[in-house]
Amino acid sequence: MKHCPHPGCSWQAIAPTADAALTQYAEHLVEEHSRTVDVDIPDGMVQIKLQEGGEWITTTFEEARKLHDTGHDE
Ligand SMILES: [Zn+2]
Repeated sequence: MKHCPHPGCSWQAIAPTADAALTQYAEHLVEEHSRTVDVDIPDGMVQIKLQEGGEWITTTFEEARKLHDTGHDE
């Protein structure tokens, strides 16, 4: 089961496959752990944190998902 690593966040994926779970997780990151700031973020880009205390990453939704994929090989 895919859990969100952010402290205090109880989100977990409810999906039939690991791939679907990752898609849900990417959506969750964008919805709950992204931000809009008054710097130039092009349309279609999001800023996410993969972990609390980590760096904000400006990326696309698709890249966000890939980043997460590559960070968790097990
Ligand atoms: Zn979360």
